[in-house]
Amino acid sequence: MKFLSTRNSNLKISGREAIVKGISEDGGLFVPEFFPSFDIMENLDLSYTDLAHKILSLYLTDFDKEDLLKIIEKSYGSFEDEIAKVSYQKDFYLELYHGRTSAFKDFALCLLPNLLAYAKKSLGIKDKTLILTATSGDTGKAALEGFYNTEDIDILVLYPTEGVSSIQKAQMDTTGSLNSKVISIDGNFDDAQSAVKKIFNDSKIKEELKKENIYLSSANSINIGRLLPQIVYYFYSYADLVKNKKIDAGEKISYCVPTGNFGDILAGYYAKEMGLPVDKLVIASNDNNVLTDFFTTGTYDANRDLVKTISPSMDILVSSNLERLIFHKSSDDLVKEKMDDLRDKGLFDFEGDFKEFLCGYANEEETRKTIKKVFEEENYLIDPHTGVAKNIVDKLGLDKTVILSTASPYKFSSTVLDALGENLSDDEFENINILHEKTGVKIPSEIKKLKNKKILHKTKILKNEIEEEVLKFAKRGKRISVPATSANLGPGFDVLGLALDLANTCEFKLTDNKDEFENNLKTNLIYKAYKYAFDFYGEEVLPVDFDLDANIPLSRGLGSSAACIVMGIMAAFEVMKRDFDKKEILKIATKMEGHPDNVAPAIFGNAVASILKDDQVYVEKFEISNNFKFLAIIPDFKLPTKEARDVLPETYSKEDAVFNLSRLSMVILSLISGDEENLKVALDDKIHEPYRLKLIPEIHEIEKIINGSEALGHYLSGAGSTIMLVLKAKDKISEEEIKNNLDKLSNSYEVLALDLDKKGAFII
Ligand SMILES: *Cc1c(COP(=O)(O)O)cnc(C)c1O
Repeated sequence: MKFLSTRNSNLKISGREAIVKGISEDGGLFVPEFFPSFDIMENLDLSYTDLAHKILSLYLTDFDKEDLLKIIEKSYGSFEDEIAKVSYQKDFYLELYHGRTSAFKDFALCLLPNLLAYAKKSLGIKDKTLILTATSGDTGKAALEGFYNTEDIDILVLYPTEGVSSIQKAQMDTTGSLNSKVISIDGNFDDAQSAVKKIFNDSKIKEELKKENIYLSSANSINIGRLLPQIVYYFYSYADLVKNKKIDAGEKISYCVPTGNFGDILAGYYAKEMGLPVDKLVIASNDNNVLTDFFTTGTYDANRDLVKTISPSMDILVSSNLERLIFHKSSDDLVKEKMDDLRDKGLFDFEGDFKEFLCGYANEEETRKTIKKVFEEENYLIDPHTGVAKNIVDKLGLDKTVILSTASPYKFSSTVLDALGENLSDDEFENINILHEKTGVKIPSEIKKLKNKKILHKTKILKNEIEEEVLKFAKRGKRISVPATSANLGPGFDVLGLALDLANTCEFKLTDNKDEFENNLKTNLIYKAYKYAFDFYGEEVLPVDFDLDANIPLSRGLGSSAACIVMGIMAAFEVMKRDFDKKEILKIATKMEGHPDNVAPAIFGNAVASILKDDQVYVEKFEISNNFKFLAIIPDFKLPTKEARDVLPETYSKEDAVFNLSRLSMVILSLISGDEENLKVALDDKIHEPYRLKLIPEIHEIEKIINGSEALGHYLSGAGSTIMLVLKAKDKISEEEIKNNLDKLSNSYEVLALDLDKKGAFII
């Protein structure tokens, strides 16, 4: 299969090339040279990922088939519960919001980054990609998740200050990946979109970026790699309807799609052209009804003001993917002419045969009423975008129609609550709770977690400052992330440790300021470790400047100094241009720290057992069962490692040694197997905890609270002062309860739920 440009059908490139390029140099969009046929009746029982594999293989013929399956399975692993779900109400709702960011954009944006990375690698492209994306809310977060810490691909997201919901904003502003930046720009979505388009056409900026070996690409739905994955759920939902006997085999059904950039509905058109029995494709718009006008009058007129509505992801006037449909209905010459008209006059005329389409629009009042009606009559909750679609299905009197439900109602809680006639709180997170109490609909777990996340992106700029920001972002230094660690795990004194999803990160650059570097060397452990690595190899140290973002609390037994040591050594490896051989890094880090139990998990991730013998470090990584989760109680009290070492005795009795040996083997095995009963007895220790716990004020009160909770057990993290609780993963109440009880004590404590880190330290 080759892909053509909508503005030059003589240009033919492969799928991998089309995905890497994103947009054709002639300004056109890539389209497949023909529509392969696919018979859903012969594939009714496929899982979502197998179906996706079959369909995408028809287009991406230059991808290795097995690699493609692996990519698809990995990408859709991020979905909660089901991938796509058809909900049978009076109408059929195709719920497309069970991905990580709770909108249908996840279907393409969990996959595109992996397709792009594969395409780049297999084509031998080493340049860095900078994804530049304007978003009306959902694309931005879905792209940030899809491109989370991808190697060699950075992402800059611009969203309009006016026009995204507070949840969408919080989702984006709390994203902690090292390869991303999120900027809010003054104005509406079209302002952001046109500013981005201007940069794509600015040869001076592209020249500047080329000097840094960076090329620009887009995550917007102009990339064919975003369109193709969306074809799959049209087929999938049809199969579901047949299997549930809602329709006969081969019976034609309609799809109603809330539309903005015309990507989602165009995928439906592709499905129909591939042979899916589709009756009508219904283009649903909100007050920004350019498409309704176009499909009824034949004139596309973008000369109007963009209206801000309660369905912000459809607040668009220039619907990029329409260009593809016009190409399929005419020719490249005609597309060029029409797109020139659009650019020069803001409008074009096109008389085509669109018999398979219907269209309509719903205003805000109609949308609200529809949300209320569906909830009251069917006890089914829909978001405002889905509300627009449902309103049009009702207005057109359609039956046997699948409504594409594109976002979770919780992304727009205040709008939905308001539509239901409830009182609103000023606090959007409170509105989520009110909505949950009223409807009982499950809150997506990523949205639930948002409330406690730190706002990391605060840059707010004017339209004319985008250029500057893009260049600044492109010229950043390298970044390193090193996770916090928790050593000992009870009986594993000085031999066990695990990595946690709390990290110190930094950006670093070579500097000319030698004096400042020398000064930092005197006091700062990261700089010391950096120099240590140069000394280790007998190389002359080059001055650098670290900009640290420290999240790991100091001297609390959470591996903050191990993180600094690993960070400095990794930076030195980068500057010395040495391979990131993790074992080699571990060797140097252990030599500097004196023992491997924190640096090993910091480097490798997961849980690690280690032995230091004759200057050699031996490590074995193991994975902890999903049955467990961790909760750190961090006292407002530092425990210096030296003090904690000094209280330990010189010798131990045979009894204590055997006690610990039995617990040590059991703690490792039960952490792996997930056996709760065994873990409960395995966390005890007689080597260090009996002596060290005495150093922590209020320890008896703290232990009383822990013992009264549902925790399976606890241990002193490293040399303390943090106390780490191991809980059942399913346990919901303990966290709050423990926090509330600790609040009654006289000292103050931070309580932090921590997941395991599986990746270890990395550099971007
Ligand atoms: C993006 C989006 C749409 C519009 O999809 P297009 O492919 O741009 O037509 C509709 N609803 C939601 C929730 C969206 O995020």
